[in-house]
Amino acid sequence: MQQWNAFYELINSPQKRVVILTHQNPDADAIGSSLGWKLYLQKKGHSATVIIPNECSANLRWMPDFAEVITYDQNVQSQAHSKQVIQDAEVICCLDFNALHRIKGLGELALASTATKVLIDHHLEPESFADFVFSDTTKAATAQYVFELIQQLGDASLVDLPMAQCLYAGIMTDTGSFRHGSTTPEVHLAVAELMKTGLQVNDVHRAIFDNNTLSRTRLLGYVLSEKLTVLPEYRTVYMTLSLEELKRFQSEMGDTEGIVNYGLSLENIVMSVLIIERRDEIKLSFRSVSDFSVRDLAHQYFSGGGHKNASGGRTNTSLKATTELLLSVLPEYQNELLSVKK
Ligand code: 5GP
Ligand code: MN
Repeated sequence: MQQWNAFYELINSPQKRVVILTHQNPDADAIGSSLGWKLYLQKKGHSATVIIPNECSANLRWMPDFAEVITYDQNVQSQAHSKQVIQDAEVICCLDFNALHRIKGLGELALASTATKVLIDHHLEPESFADFVFSDTTKAATAQYVFELIQQLGDASLVDLPMAQCLYAGIMTDTGSFRHGSTTPEVHLAVAELMKTGLQVNDVHRAIFDNNTLSRTRLLGYVLSEKLTVLPEYRTVYMTLSLEELKRFQSEMGDTEGIVNYGLSLENIVMSVLIIERRDEIKLSFRSVSDFSVRDLAHQYFSGGGHKNASGGRTNTSLKATTELLLSVLPEYQNELLSVKK
């Protein structure tokens, strides 16, 4: 209650310089919740700047005010600019992530700042770095949480079409277009309110999902036909992609997003893993259905974490060694995998 009153005072105080940060490889919830929150803060009379650690995929750049977003690692100027904006900030809002080390250089700048810090997130186990912590794993998306906070602040009437487009993009994608178990009545109620602004949900869906380049579509076809291995004894599917293959398909940032989900569409499959060779690390994406949690696997063996049904991790070895590591730990989870009801 005390926290809420102080937060209410902060939001309703005269103009503050606010910076909004979100996670590495920002997805639609990261960008959508950040821009929705920024547009709201501007309506409250604050100045707000969104900084993303690295580039996002092209299908998210249509969002209102995206042109104003600073991409930290774009060049020396953007790094210097980010540094200045963070140093000048009175308030730093961290959206859709819970640990400053996950945003590398930007996180260090934020940690060094004495600005009031606000965390709005829906991942498990938040780090304790913020003065105001809104961390709730029952929220399907950070964008849903942002909308509900705006409602609780008594400002639902300020939500307009551009804000609704940003927030809807985050909710739609983080719920897998309203099919994941995280899709609660509250999610649909939030969407119903957003639609009252004149939001055309089909436009948002098309902008995000029906804007693939031909090479991205061919990459998906290649992975599904050539690179997908089914392990029925573990009810698991895994796919691998090397740097060379990504280059061959002229893969751009975000092109591999969503590929891992195709593994779960197979009958009887409970877990899907995508292993990708990046320039500086091997990145893993884990997805599961029902009661099988991929979080423990990602955390224990791949220095990662995330949600029960969607986690990520990494190694500093090779694609081959990472795949072998995965195969070597699967027996540990076999009983659990076999007992899951799909
Ligand atoms: P993705 O496979 O899309 O990269 O990640 C899936 C989910 O796991 C996302 O919610 C993401 O935030 C989370 N995640 C990915 N990598 C990590 C990690 O290294 N640590 C933690 N705690 N979460 C991660
Ligand atoms: Mn999210």
